[in-house]
Amino acid sequence: MKIGFIGLGRMGKPMSSNLCRKGFQLLVHDVNLEAVRDLEKLNAQAATPNELAAACDIAITMLPNSQIVEDVVLGILPQLRRGSLIMDMSTIDPLVTDRLAAEAAKRGVEFVDAPVGRLASHADRGESLFMVGASEPNFDRVKPLLEAMGTTIHHCGPVGSGTRTKLVNNYLAIVSCQTNAEALALAQRFGLNLEKTLEVLSGTTATNGQLKIAWPSKVLAGDIEPGFTVDLAHKDLTLIVEAANAAQVPLSIGATAREAFNLARSRGFGPKDFSVMVDVLCELADIKKPRLKD
Ligand code: NAD
Repeated sequence: MKIGFIGLGRMGKPMSSNLCRKGFQLLVHDVNLEAVRDLEKLNAQAATPNELAAACDIAITMLPNSQIVEDVVLGILPQLRRGSLIMDMSTIDPLVTDRLAAEAAKRGVEFVDAPVGRLASHADRGESLFMVGASEPNFDRVKPLLEAMGTTIHHCGPVGSGTRTKLVNNYLAIVSCQTNAEALALAQRFGLNLEKTLEVLSGTTATNGQLKIAWPSKVLAGDIEPGFTVDLAHKDLTLIVEAANAAQVPLSIGATAREAFNLARSRGFGPKDFSVMVDVLCELADIKKPRLKD
C-alpha cells in the first residue's frame, strides 16, 4: 500500500515521519522543499501532487486552511484511482469537507476527515488524538495509519463529523487562552507571585488544559515559538464563529476572543504560539510579562 502525504509543516512533518518510521511507504509533497528533503532522509519519496495522486492508495492532506485544502484536493482528484481514499487531517470549514467528500464520491474516491487534537509536541511523540468522520469500512481502512501517528482515535460519525467535533473542541481550547491571558495579566498587575498563583489555580475548578499543561512550558517559560500559531487559532475561531452564526448559535465570548486574536495579529504576533496572548495583553496594559523562575 502506498501513502501520499501533502503538507509537511509543524504537524504534517512529525505525523508523516512517524508513518515512515513504522514502515509505511510514503510519497510526500510540500511547497517547502526543505521539509520534503527531511522526509527523504526517512526513505519517503518526493513527488509532485499529480505523481503522488496517481501512485497512492490513500492520500493524506495536512494543510493550513480551507482554501488551500480545497485547491489541493480538487487538483489531485482527477489523478486519483477509483477506490482510492483521501484523508484530510487539516482543520477546515465543515462545509468545505462536505463539498470535497461529494466531489470525491462523484469520481469513485472515498473521503475521510480526521482532524488532529492535542499539541504539536504530542504529534512529535506520536501521541496525537484523532477525531474521525468516516463510513465504517473507511474507518477500518485508515485506522492502521492513525495508530501509527497517535494514541487516541475517536470515530465521531459519518464524513464531516470529525471536522465538526474539532471545531467544538477548539472553541473551548482557544477561548480559554483569552481568559487565561486576562487572569494572568490581572495577577501580574496585583503583583502576585506567579508560581503560587498557578499552584492555587491548578488545585481548584479554575483549571484548564492550556493553563495547566501547555502554558508552563510555553509562554510562561519564555518560549513563544509555535506550537500552534496565533494565525491558526484566529482561523479556527473564525471558522467556529461563522459556523455558529450559520446555525444561529450565538457565541458572544467566541466573537470577542476572535477579535482579541485579531488584535494580536495586528501587532505582529500572528506567527507566534497562541499562548503569547498573555504577552499581548501585558504589552497593551503596560504590565510585566509573566515568566516562571527557572
Ligand atoms: P504549518 O503552517 O506549520 O504547515 C502547513 C504546511 O503546508 C507547510 O509546510 C506549508 O509549506 C504547506 N503548504 C501550504 N500550501 C501548500 C500547498 N498548496 N501545497 C503543498 N503544501 C502546502 O501548519 P500546521 O501547524 O502543521 O497545521 C496544519 C493544520 O493542522 C492546520 O489546519 C491547523 O489548524 C491544524 N492543527 C495544528 C495544530 C498545531 O498545534 N500546530 C494542532 C492541531 C491541528
